[in-house]
Amino acid sequence: MSEDIYEPEFHNSLSMEILPSDNAFDWITQSSKVQQSIELERQIVIANSSNQEKKLKTMSFFKNNPLFLKMTDEMLLLNKEEINSRRKSSLESGDCQDIVPINKILDKIQSFDFNVFELNDLVEKRTLEFISNEIFERGNFFEEMIDEKKFKNFIREISNGYDRAVVYHNDLHACDVLQTCYVMISKGNLVENLSLNEIDIVAAYLSAICHDYKHNGFNNMFHVNDKTSIAITYNDSSVLENFHVAESFKVLLKPENNLLCKLQKEEWRLVRRRMIDCILMTDMANHAKHLSGLKAKLETFDVKGGNNVNKMIFPDNAAKTYENQQLILGMCLHTADVSNPAKPLNINIKWVDLVFLEFFNQGDCEKKKGLPVSLLCDRETTNVNKSQIGFINFVVLPTFDTMMNVIPQISQYYEIIKSNLKRYEELYNEQQKKI
Ligand SMILES: [Zn+2]
Repeated sequence: MSEDIYEPEFHNSLSMEILPSDNAFDWITQSSKVQQSIELERQIVIANSSNQEKKLKTMSFFKNNPLFLKMTDEMLLLNKEEINSRRKSSLESGDCQDIVPINKILDKIQSFDFNVFELNDLVEKRTLEFISNEIFERGNFFEEMIDEKKFKNFIREISNGYDRAVVYHNDLHACDVLQTCYVMISKGNLVENLSLNEIDIVAAYLSAICHDYKHNGFNNMFHVNDKTSIAITYNDSSVLENFHVAESFKVLLKPENNLLCKLQKEEWRLVRRRMIDCILMTDMANHAKHLSGLKAKLETFDVKGGNNVNKMIFPDNAAKTYENQQLILGMCLHTADVSNPAKPLNINIKWVDLVFLEFFNQGDCEKKKGLPVSLLCDRETTNVNKSQIGFINFVVLPTFDTMMNVIPQISQYYEIIKSNLKRYEELYNEQQKKI
């Protein structure tokens, strides 16, 4: 990796830039409990102030102080009334008249059984806009960090770049992945356990939003075999993932879409670095490598049942800390990307139908073009139930099983996966009896 984020100059400039000017960290470690509490209150006031520079310094202050890490988590939560009033004004500015049923669905944004299709029935092509807005409002990111107007422009353009003619890899899949990432990050105390700050969280959510941007319904194998222009551009290497992230940044860099315009140069580079690393980790070709890397890392630090996650953080080694935080954030995105079997059966069935419509369409094209037919894409030979059993046993269950060491709160997903697996096994066995 040649990333300039590992340059010592970068880390020095970043830490110099965002440490509290009065060096509160040194002060706090030497002071009494009463004095610490006064300083804590002062930092909270600054954190809630309208001064972006001060707020970022304060977020870093909390990030670097194990005593107060919990505060960052609390700062990510808005109170319920505020959420509702903001949501209402946001909805009224659009063309959706009936707010009540939309509110009812959005209230469940942090639930394991959130149904993106239900929201789509009400707001259609604005679904990504509503879900993104809800999550960013709850994170309180519009206060200081994100330009709200440009955020809305950006989301609209990204949403429009997802093609509904592509039946699976469209904006609804982006919504599903974003919502699942939100559940994992917000329920999993990742801010606290991994000493993450607002910038890291925003980068993770933006990665989910953009991770399949402009997908055309054909996988990497097809692009490579068909020698498409994007395969040539990205040298057959994580073709789509490179394409999604590069195209997303073209959208982001337009002045009217630059939601990150308030960030300092180094912060902007950090968001970009995280987004590139997260989205590249969604390439299924690297699944085994990333999962075994994570397993080894969790073993090294004895991370189990959500304990010891903070051992992966090294206050004196920014590069190592970045790498470990990135592994977990990237794996959150990858886990969310393969999370269809973790959704209640009625939702799971819809995703499976859609993904196989897309796969079989690709298989038909491959046959017409005389290309090798990709795995699971041949409608004549692929057994959907059997493929789901294999996908769950060899990809989904091991991924969730490993991630539960970091985020035990997702055990509910694990239970749903096992129940869905049972259903596919029953269906497959019935099919076999009839043959
Ligand atoms: Zn995806």
